[in-house]
Amino acid sequence: MSNYYVKIIPDNPYCHVDMQAAEKARDYLEECSMVAMSVEIEMHEAPAFVDSGGYLQEIACPFCGGDLLDWWKDAMDAAAGENGLFAELDEKQLPCCGRRASLNELKYDYPCGFACTELIVLNPRNQLEQHHIEAVERLLGMRIKVIYSRI
Ligand SMILES: [Zn+2]
Repeated sequence: MSNYYVKIIPDNPYCHVDMQAAEKARDYLEECSMVAMSVEIEMHEAPAFVDSGGYLQEIACPFCGGDLLDWWKDAMDAAAGENGLFAELDEKQLPCCGRRASLNELKYDYPCGFACTELIVLNPRNQLEQHHIEAVERLLGMRIKVIYSRI
């Protein structure tokens, strides 16, 4: 059986959530009936790639829609530090149309992201609803992105 995760990350890849706020958000999610068993908090010193696992089908240019999957693999290798983290998400020239975008701005389907803090909900029973997302945003004091992932 494959595992299904919902990963909650700050909208800003460089944002470090403080542990107290992250724990409050975790406690809230664990109390919601949507959560299965547990919510894990992961902290990284620099942005980590937060992927959608088996749901990731396509990576495209945000401007022209060109397929960037092959280019993206090399660009990720070049951008990753020795620790596998992405200290800099600089804009790069894209091979499709020549415009510039950062790895965080590409169109990932399903969505992926980069983040220093992740709240990982394992095998939730139900979908996160908008009011759950808003409550977590209030607890963290920032906009969040929700990444759906399957291993
Ligand atoms: Zn393009």
